[in-house]
Amino acid sequence: MINGRLRDTSLIVNLDALRHNIQEQKKALPENSRILAVVKANAYGNGLIPVANAALNGGANGLCVAILDEALELRDNGIEALTLVLGITPVEYAVIAAEAGVSLTVGSLDWLEQYHQLAQVVKPQKPLKVHLGIDSGMGRIGFTDISTFKQAVALLNNPEFEFEGMFTHFATADSPDATYFDHQVQCWQKFVASIDHLPPYVHMANSATGLWHQETITANTIRMGISMYGQNPSGHDLKLTLDLQPVSSLVSSIAFVKKLKAGRSVSYGATYTAAKDEWLATLPIGYADGYPRCMTGYKVLVDGQFCEIAGRVCMDQMMIRLPKYYPVGTPVVLMGKSGEKEITANDLAEQAGTINYEILTNISNRVHRVYQQSND
Ligand SMILES: *Cc1c(COP(=O)(O)O)cnc(C)c1O
Repeated sequence: MINGRLRDTSLIVNLDALRHNIQEQKKALPENSRILAVVKANAYGNGLIPVANAALNGGANGLCVAILDEALELRDNGIEALTLVLGITPVEYAVIAAEAGVSLTVGSLDWLEQYHQLAQVVKPQKPLKVHLGIDSGMGRIGFTDISTFKQAVALLNNPEFEFEGMFTHFATADSPDATYFDHQVQCWQKFVASIDHLPPYVHMANSATGLWHQETITANTIRMGISMYGQNPSGHDLKLTLDLQPVSSLVSSIAFVKKLKAGRSVSYGATYTAAKDEWLATLPIGYADGYPRCMTGYKVLVDGQFCEIAGRVCMDQMMIRLPKYYPVGTPVVLMGKSGEKEITANDLAEQAGTINYEILTNISNRVHRVYQQSND
């Protein structure tokens, strides 16, 4: 994996902001609530290991990832906290999870029965920690039927299992209309009420639920994802109810600067032509770094001023029009603050026709991550 340390383009990740965001959420929850920090997809692009460590020492009680490989990467780096895989893991790899003490999401009775059979043959050294997923309306994974769910809970009494948690996931917690959300809550409550002994971790809330449905969270644990990174899960739709600070900013610098003569064109397709003589700078960042190609014509920040992206964004470079001459090495902000002005992940997402989640997770490995934190 190539990490562009020798180029002036970086994702600056402020781990103090991350810890602040966790504390903000913690203050808003009932006492003794637990937070699982969602660090899937390279911690939403911010870097799995540094973010996981910062989240844990910032107050998170455990971690969630999407796939088993991500969980094992945490273990390989000495992180032993509760780690839940949110997706479905093939049964044949579940023994690896058991031995690494990684918790798995299980969404069907079939899966449990297969593991039960397998365990008689393989005899894993440790019980497999299981969180049963309940599909209350997301329609992705999980139990939809209470009697099957109860059979699964009964099967978890076998010694090769440890019933550690149960959870559901909301489809519309970031919507101003709570009808579908309420319907999911009711469905979930029926599952909770159907068993005599609840597992230690009961969780229903994602970031949006933690922000806009605090009163409906009856579970003892929340899964904090995008809000931990200081981003609004609803885009611009709903106002944040917590004081969240954006964790990352994307910065580059001028690598080349020239005066472009009136009538000359810029970049592939020659779609941009200088109306008059103007200063043009080239930046060492492009769509292969995760800065979307469709941002052509959008803006970046130089010295507190917006500058237009001139011509098509290339794979590794892009050009911008400067208001006046700036030398090579001048900092450029593509996402974040410069002077009084700011370009947020939401602004980029809106321009690109996507959501802030996708902007963050697309920042590629070639972009060097720089971590900032105070020493306390
Ligand atoms: C990704 C994910 C989350 C985190 O979602 P945010 O909107 O970022 O808080 C929580 N739960 C599950 C099951 C997920 O897949």
